[in-house]
Amino acid sequence: MSRRRVSIFGATGSIGQNTIDLIARDAEGYEVVALTGASNIDLLASDAKRLRAQIAVTADEQLLPALRNALAGSGIEAAAGEAALLDAADRPADWIMSAIVGAAGLAPGLRALRHGTTLALANKESLVTAGPILLQEARARGATVLPVDSEHSAVFQALVGEDINAVERIIITASGGGLRDWPVERLAEATPEDAGAHPNWDMGQRITIDSASMFNKAMELIETKEFFGVAPDRIETVIHPQSIVHALVGFNDGAVMAHLGAPDMRHAIGYALNYPERRQLPVDRIDLAQLAKLEFHAPCVTRYPALRIARAVMETGGQAGCVFTAAKEVALDAFLAGRIGFMDMSGIVEASLDAMSSKIGLSNAALTLEDVLQTDHMSRQTAWTLIEQKR
Ligand code: NDP
Ligand code: MG
Repeated sequence: MSRRRVSIFGATGSIGQNTIDLIARDAEGYEVVALTGASNIDLLASDAKRLRAQIAVTADEQLLPALRNALAGSGIEAAAGEAALLDAADRPADWIMSAIVGAAGLAPGLRALRHGTTLALANKESLVTAGPILLQEARARGATVLPVDSEHSAVFQALVGEDINAVERIIITASGGGLRDWPVERLAEATPEDAGAHPNWDMGQRITIDSASMFNKAMELIETKEFFGVAPDRIETVIHPQSIVHALVGFNDGAVMAHLGAPDMRHAIGYALNYPERRQLPVDRIDLAQLAKLEFHAPCVTRYPALRIARAVMETGGQAGCVFTAAKEVALDAFLAGRIGFMDMSGIVEASLDAMSSKIGLSNAALTLEDVLQTDHMSRQTAWTLIEQKR
């Protein structure tokens, strides 16, 4: 059997490293085309050498000399910058992991779809920012998009062989994040260190803080609407502290299919890698008797204003998701920089949506990547202005 050609965008991150872990276990099965990263040149170069990649790309042009240096004598090509990321997405591959963090992941993923490849989509910002453009490109090019976010992989698996028209509801579970047991009145004081510790999942710093604020869950609700094409009022979320049930799908006969598994991203990544087959994966098996109980409860909207904002974004549609993502990224940067408090992030996002609504009217859909990038840019400026005004 010929080796499958794979590329990993965001190879140095948490998802990227989990993907590499799976691929490295079957070195004969894969031919690694491109690995990309940004700041972590040592890791990028060592993985490129270990996996004998064709090319390693850093998003940061300033780091090209360091990357060249680290790859010297290996015969592996080195490149840098946004255009180089797009060129890497043009290289023929059978399976591409989209795991760059943030809106920066959109353009390379979209480019990869042009070639009719299979795109394993971890980068949730792509769907929230430009779901219709991405999925339309996939349809037009005969490409396959497979969800890697664990909840969406779970829904996707529960839907195999089912008719989407028979779906009554989709329930996305949420751990509640690192601050779920803090009193609500103390949340305003939470620091990035407090919010950056997750009870169940080991993930990148940004998504871990987004879990504590539930901006991550807000993104996932919007992702669900975009990917599965289900009406917003059929999409629910429930707090499930154990993170064993990843999502549930309710059908029109009252049946509910739940997906259970250990909280390990290699499950969802491996499902996308082996799809449509199922193969052995090195993840823990769950023991229900040992788990003893699985708890579920409704999320408190005072604690998690992001959930209310997600509802508004889903109802508005159009460019609301793009503004939401951009403003959320800016608010998170400001929180990480100590410029705003933990609970201020939702206020900035909501005010950015209001301001952008007055400027451009959010419900009109963006038709091209350029439209999306323009709205993204304007939204970031708007959010920064709001942050400045707060000081
Ligand atoms: P990390 O922060 O761990 O990794 C991000 C990756 O993107 C790194 O390779 C990083 O490079 C690279 N990167 C950072 N900035 C840029 C940029 N401007 N241009 C190009 N590349 C860049 O993130 P995660 O792996 O946690 O998450 C990746 C995506 O997957 C996110 O969209 C996240 O929401 C989603 N996701 C993650 C889950 C998880 O368990 N971690 C679960 C579900 C979804 P470097 O490190 O070298 O600077
Ligand atoms: Mg998730």
